[in-house]
Parts: sequence; C-alpha cells; structure tokens
Amino acid sequence: MNRENELTPFPIPGDADQSLRPKRLSEFIGQEQLKSNLEVFLRAARQRSEPLDHVLLYGPPGLGKTTLAHIIANEMDAIVHITSGPAVERPGDLVGILTNLEPGAVLFIDEIHRLSRPVEEILYPAMEDCKVDIMIGKGPAARSIRLDVPRFTVVGATTRQGLLTGPLRDRFGIISHFQYYDSDALYRIIQRSARILGYPIESDGADEISKRARGTPRIANRLLRRVRDFAQVDGMDSIDAKIVSYACTALEVDHVGLDRVDRMLLRSMIEKYRGGPVGLETLAATTGEDSTTIEDVYEPYLLQQGFIQRTPRGRTVTDLAYRHLNLPPPARESGVLFE
Ligand code: ADP
Repeated sequence: MNRENELTPFPIPGDADQSLRPKRLSEFIGQEQLKSNLEVFLRAARQRSEPLDHVLLYGPPGLGKTTLAHIIANEMDAIVHITSGPAVERPGDLVGILTNLEPGAVLFIDEIHRLSRPVEEILYPAMEDCKVDIMIGKGPAARSIRLDVPRFTVVGATTRQGLLTGPLRDRFGIISHFQYYDSDALYRIIQRSARILGYPIESDGADEISKRARGTPRIANRLLRRVRDFAQVDGMDSIDAKIVSYACTALEVDHVGLDRVDRMLLRSMIEKYRGGPVGLETLAATTGEDSTTIEDVYEPYLLQQGFIQRTPRGRTVTDLAYRHLNLPPPARESGVLFE
C-alpha cells in the first residue's frame, strides 16, 4: 500500500493522531444519524447493565472507526482490546484473546474482513453464546471442549462490507455506515484540532482546509499540521486562507482536495484508455498503484465527487474530470437514437 504518501487517509506509524482523537461521543463531530442511534443503544445497554450488542463500523479509511470504537468503550466504562484481521493468524490466537477478556470488554477488530475462515469459526459461538470450542490433542484421540467466555462486545471495522462473510455480518446487531464528512463538520473538526494544537486558525483558513480534505477527518488533521508548519516558518500568528492555499500548492493538493495520485489516475484513464472503460487491475498495473488502495481510498472519493463512474465494463472518467484537468472532453456520440 502507498503508505508513504503524506496525505493518505491510512494511519502513518508515529503519527500524532492520538492527541486529536475525541474521547466521548459528545466530542465526536458529524455523522449525526449514526451518532444519535448509537447514543440510544449505549444508553439502553447501560440501563440494562449489559454490554452493548456487537457493532460493525463500515466506511473508507480515516473517517473515525477506530475513534468510535474507543468512544464506545469509554461510554460503556469498558476495557478495550485492539487487534486486526491480519494480526490474528491462527484460531489459537483468537482463543487466547477471548479467554482473557474481562466481562463487558470491547474487542476492536480492525479490517475484520481479513479474518481467516478458521478464525471466524472461533468467533461465531463466542459472539452468540459466549462459548469457545477448542480442540485438545490430535488424531483419533482429539476431542473438543467448550469454554465459557464473559459477555463482551465486538466492534468490527471494515472498509469493505462486501468482503465480509454472510454469517459474520449476521452476528452484528448494530451496523453503522460512515459517510464522508460535509465541509461544515470538517470545519468544526479543524477548529477543534487547531485549538488542541494551540495554533490559531482564521475561519477562512479552516474553510479552505475543509474543502481540500476529501471529506476525511484524518486528512483534515494532516493538512492542518502541514499548513501549520508553513505558517510557523513564515512567522505567522494564525492560519489564514492564503497560507492554506500556498501550502496546498506545495503539497500538490488542489482546490477540491485531489492529490497527485488522484490526478495521475484520471490522466492515465484519459491518455491511455481514452477515458475508459478500464478495469481496476489494468489501472493498477499501468499506474503502479496498489489495486486495494485504488479501490478503498482513491476511487470512492472520485466516484462521490463525480469524476469517475463505474460501469459493468470498468471505470470511465466523466466530462467533469476532463474539465478539472483542463483537457477537452471527447466528442461523444449523440444520445438521440431516433430522429
Ligand atoms: P479510521 O479508523 O476510520 O481509519 P480513525 O478513527 O483513526 O479512522 O480517525 C482518524 C483521525 O481523524 C482520528 O485520529 C481523529 O483525530 C480524527 N477524527 C475522526 N473522526 C472524527 C470526528 N468525528 N470528530 C473529530 N475528529 C475525528
């Protein structure tokens, strides 16, 4: 994956995301519908003194799934354990985690769609009946024993709901879809982050960052930090729209938030495939980008902004993309069939 890209919505090791993370639901900005539903479910579970039902959080990277998992644990006064699909390699690893859970604990499984089948099989009875089946011994002498585990809450996060197996998806009582943040929510997130970082920001500065943040809080926070560097080196007391625009030009982020890779993808589709349709793997091979990254990170935003379309035969670029890149749109065949 293209993790070196400064503006990727993936976490970067050692990144200071941690300090900007809201801790309580009341501090979590945006995603209003998701938040108000969750508030009801949390309150109801607390009133019954029960753990919250299992929660599946679905959405592109950087939108706040990990943050919300921690918030759920905080709001339930529960201990949170963190793991991820690829990290749990063998069923025994998961048995070890499950049998050490405290009652009511939250088990956060990031990239849950990447759990292997044998590991998933261990998770089902634990989620449903608080039981874990383990095999003792090998060959004809092998026998299975059932262990009790305390009631707990799985919070699973995925960028690809479609890759989750049906049985796993069915075991989640709460399925929450994250949407890209609108510029108003991003504006508030940027103002909050600037306060925490202790660097004043003018409202036109926050506004300008919010337009370039691809609807993603992680990118908004990263842009804010980089713009602050430019402002600080220039000896400015606060961040305004002008320095945002200057810094973004240096960072190759344009006025709608497209970065170098986005523009390279669009350009490849236009120049090498006459605007498409082009398949994902072909595009990945031509551009040298990882196909998962294209599908999880770049494509959803380009689709949402109307720069590309998905057709059964592959991706095509729209006229909007040609205009954005200052290229003449191709002459299209007339849509009128009968004259
Ligand atoms: P994901 O797990 O979906 O990839 P994260 O939970 O790691 O995303 O969020 C990335 C960063 O964005 C967090 O560190 C946090 O600072 C910020 N963030 C995400 N959602 C919000 C929000 N609703 N309000 C404020 N900050 C947010």
